[in-house]
Amino acid sequence: MKIHTLQIPPEGRHIEGEDPKEVLLLEDGLVEPCAPLAYSLDIGLSEGGVFATGTLRTAFKMACVSCLEGFEMPVTLENFACQADLEGREVVDLTEALREDILLALPAHPHCDWNGRNDCKGNPLPAAEVPAAENRREVWNALDRLKI
Ligand SMILES: [Zn+2]
Repeated sequence: MKIHTLQIPPEGRHIEGEDPKEVLLLEDGLVEPCAPLAYSLDIGLSEGGVFATGTLRTAFKMACVSCLEGFEMPVTLENFACQADLEGREVVDLTEALREDILLALPAHPHCDWNGRNDCKGNPLPAAEVPAAENRREVWNALDRLKI
């Protein structure tokens, strides 16, 4: 997303729009953007630079770490903020700043049941329960044998 400083009045400006999802492409291929990067930002001029604050919204397709099923997860950043130095230029590109913050918001260990609507098949039973039941039966068996 390129910002032309001549288009920013002294009081700042509100911009809304979308960047194609391709700007969010990752090289590892494990996480794939599946929606455009939508932004709603207040931009303004600061000393020697441009700042932007606002909301970013997109969605990613990723694989669950438990069951390996693919699922989609929306990602919203309510408090995005960035600052870019102009260094004499009239145009600054905020794409990299948007991209970085969005990628940081992704879960490190995505689970397909993140919203409670999906039933993750990879979730193991509470590990303690099965052996405990077995143990109890053994104890009773042992007691039964004692009575005889
Ligand atoms: Zn899962």
